[in-house]
Amino acid sequence: MWCIKCKGPASIYIRRHNSAFCEEHYLEYMRKQVERAIEYYKMFTREEKILVAVSGGKDSLALWDILLDLGYTADGIHIDIGIGEYSIISKEKVRTFASSRGVKCYEVNLKDIYQTSITYIARKNNRSYCSTCGVIKRYIMNLFTVLVGYDVIVTGHNLDDESASLLGNVLHWQIEYLRSQFPIMPKELGFSRKAKPLCRVTDEETTKYCDIKCINYVSERCPLSKKAQSLVYKELLSQLEASSPGSKAQFYFGFLERGKRYFVEKQETLSISNCKICGQPTTEDICSFCRQMRRAGLDPLLLKSTIERNI
Ligand SMILES: [Zn+2]
Ligand SMILES: [Zn+2]
Repeated sequence: MWCIKCKGPASIYIRRHNSAFCEEHYLEYMRKQVERAIEYYKMFTREEKILVAVSGGKDSLALWDILLDLGYTADGIHIDIGIGEYSIISKEKVRTFASSRGVKCYEVNLKDIYQTSITYIARKNNRSYCSTCGVIKRYIMNLFTVLVGYDVIVTGHNLDDESASLLGNVLHWQIEYLRSQFPIMPKELGFSRKAKPLCRVTDEETTKYCDIKCINYVSERCPLSKKAQSLVYKELLSQLEASSPGSKAQFYFGFLERGKRYFVEKQETLSISNCKICGQPTTEDICSFCRQMRRAGLDPLLLKSTIERNI
């Protein structure tokens, strides 16, 4: 197996592209994939201020590293959801990376603010941990991006994540969620711009990237997501990919190119107003964050005032 770039010995083979790379050219391949996504979907420019949502896992750290290597101005935000050892290790990995690259990373600690964890809030709302976690994280990321004045928030969702959630949304015809499958969501009515620059690369590819660059990440899966349905969809798509390489990319990018006009362009403009409690944008009277916090007997406004005090 030989590197398609330098014809030297290759150690990485990417089946869906039928391409092999040596380590050096593999890193170049990854940077190119990210750069192509940024340019094609017009995610952001080098003049803009980028905030990277970093969990401490391979994807978000690889993304942050690639953006810095490509010359973007990118700070991090880490949300500590307070679930014991896993959260402690995750935070350590993020701190180590940020100090090794000399970049700024904000931390929001849910347990410090509310003296409780995500599991309590989810149970009080009769919701799955992943769904409550998603609501809280999205709320914090949006609030932070707007309050601190970043142009865009980027997340480490990769091709595996996006194709698995597309499969789930299509299986249940959750048309309202299909809109958020796009790798770029423009800034609108109080919502910050959001981008997913890793949408062209897979789990395996970000793992290899971190290994080559010696980026220390949390390899354990979040203990709360062990039963997540998205893992079943990922597994199904991997089986499909094994028998027919490229199907995952075809499924996701086919949707982006050809499905868009059926789901997004025809969708009526969402009526967005300001949450009656916190003022953040929502499609209902009270946003889902405030609803969940109130049901758990917690003050939704405490988060915003704590963030404002600390920035
Ligand atoms: Zn090479
Ligand atoms: Zn609210």
